[in-house]
Amino acid sequence: MEILERVKSLLPKEAISRIELEGSEIIVYTKDREFFKTYEDTIRQVVGQLKKRIEIRPENNLSLEQEATRQKIMEIVPPEANIKEIYFEPERSLVIIAAEKPGLVIGKGGETFRRVRTESFWVPRIERVPPIKSDIIDGIRKVLHTEVKFRKNFLNKIGESIFSERITSRYWIRVIGLGACREVGRSCFLVETPKSKVLIDCGVNAGGTNSGAYPILNTREFDYNELDAIIISHSHLDHLGFVPTLYERGYSGPLYLTTPTIDLATLLWLDYIDVMQRNAVNPIFTAKGVKEAVKRSVPLEYGEVSDVAPDVRLTFQNAGHVLGSALIHLHIGEGLHNIVYASDLKYGRTPLLDQAFTDFQRVETLILESTYGGAEDIKPPRQESENELMNIINRTMERNGGCLIPSFAVERAQDIMTILVENNFQYPVFIDGMIWDATGIYTAYPEYMSRNIQKKVFSNQDPFKSEIFKRVASPSDREKVLEQKPCVIISTSGMLTGGPAISYLQALAENPNNTLIFVGYQTEGTMGRRIQKGWKEVPVKLEGGKTISINLQMEVATIDGLSGHSDRNQLLSFVNRLAAKPDKVIVIHGENQKVLDLARTIHQLFRIETVAPKNLEGIRLK
Ligand SMILES: [Zn+2]
Repeated sequence: MEILERVKSLLPKEAISRIELEGSEIIVYTKDREFFKTYEDTIRQVVGQLKKRIEIRPENNLSLEQEATRQKIMEIVPPEANIKEIYFEPERSLVIIAAEKPGLVIGKGGETFRRVRTESFWVPRIERVPPIKSDIIDGIRKVLHTEVKFRKNFLNKIGESIFSERITSRYWIRVIGLGACREVGRSCFLVETPKSKVLIDCGVNAGGTNSGAYPILNTREFDYNELDAIIISHSHLDHLGFVPTLYERGYSGPLYLTTPTIDLATLLWLDYIDVMQRNAVNPIFTAKGVKEAVKRSVPLEYGEVSDVAPDVRLTFQNAGHVLGSALIHLHIGEGLHNIVYASDLKYGRTPLLDQAFTDFQRVETLILESTYGGAEDIKPPRQESENELMNIINRTMERNGGCLIPSFAVERAQDIMTILVENNFQYPVFIDGMIWDATGIYTAYPEYMSRNIQKKVFSNQDPFKSEIFKRVASPSDREKVLEQKPCVIISTSGMLTGGPAISYLQALAENPNNTLIFVGYQTEGTMGRRIQKGWKEVPVKLEGGKTISINLQMEVATIDGLSGHSDRNQLLSFVNRLAAKPDKVIVIHGENQKVLDLARTIHQLFRIETVAPKNLEGIRLK
């Protein structure tokens, strides 16, 4: 392979034993101790010249024995790092160090890390052990570890495909919406380039009827055998709910996403199977599809540039929407065209996340969401909404009431938790079921959160570790919760369509001292929406299937400005602040009127060509 030959020619011949690919990363194995200790300058030059990622690893016969390596690591790394586990992947010359404080395993300027490497002749990989245990993270790490041989092979095959000399009959760049055009839900976009095909997102529309629930894949352009990669923006089902189904149908290529996204996605996928089964609906995928997706996931960090297909280079940047959410930058050909996919994004700070990245040096085509892009979609300032939330909660505490906050498990719940801690809230806050699991995943990735939160985590003031939070893990815990007023309860589901929130509602509904607070969007037809409209007699379906009617006397409030989406002004500011002005904006992911409205406004304000395609309409970019 040409690229491997070029690397070889730039390195000292006698030091190199073999060169392999792991995805787009070039792995050089060395049999030379001196070279392994001192290669950094040489490699920096080669990387600069080839613009490829290169890692040097020692051959196994150089490595210290495993037990001796363990001891050495415990000697070198300060005990405050709290190492929980050390294990090995000799197939890749890696030692994995799982610690509560990964920063201390790295050390100042990487010093500790470097010592471990040069004294043990293993390449360290460091994992954070989250302060709130997460079965999902444990499960995923275990799958990736036990499948190390499969992974090595798989990544090697991807690498060969990425660096292959591929010839096709295409000479154009085209994007086709297979969902989420003039609608919200089932996001899915096919990008064709002269040499490659990649899919961006593959979601479901939970509220959609049969024909509108899933992406439109029975089109001539779409053949999963021809896909080089699936690239996922973030962990919401309308962006990745169909991914395990694709794997069950036979797609076997890579899935690019951030690490928090694969963790949160796995939580959501497994819950989705569970909910469908409980409602006696045949799930569209099984745990097998989830495992296949995990096995083929290729995590990238924000800002990490990676070749993903013969003429496509991918970079993720912070989207500010949920933990690990990404704007997707695709560089096509050598300077031929650049696409930024921004769906979904928040161009505004929240307590948890910094606002979306705008410093793209090249963007010719921007693909932009418009969930709140309509003329009337101006939200109140964030601070106002937070104050209002705290006022309602405090008022309820003063009258010895219970506050029920139905919430989606990912992001909004953690957002509310952070607001409570920042306002010095002192009463117990009960966190039910899946929200606790999602919060565990949050605590594993402080580096994906706002600078403000990072500062707190690193000075031992992790908001999620606050003592006000109490986990509710079982139905008997749930009964105890209701005896402890005043208190706050955060529970799924966010629109009162099921989940433990229903039993809390039932217990709290008839006492006017209690309060029900909606903090997220309530879809038409859901129980949440009916209560917002003023229904007082509410039919509730209990776990066993029995329906009872409850008399709603509790206070009901809606807090409007906490959305993880940009409002209209934030969308416009985002376009305005982009470091490079796009030639074309493709407006997607919004109701018909909002899409048209935002497209028209962007055209008028910025003199940029805008398009509002329907599903299946291809847009040629080059
Ligand atoms: Zn989203």
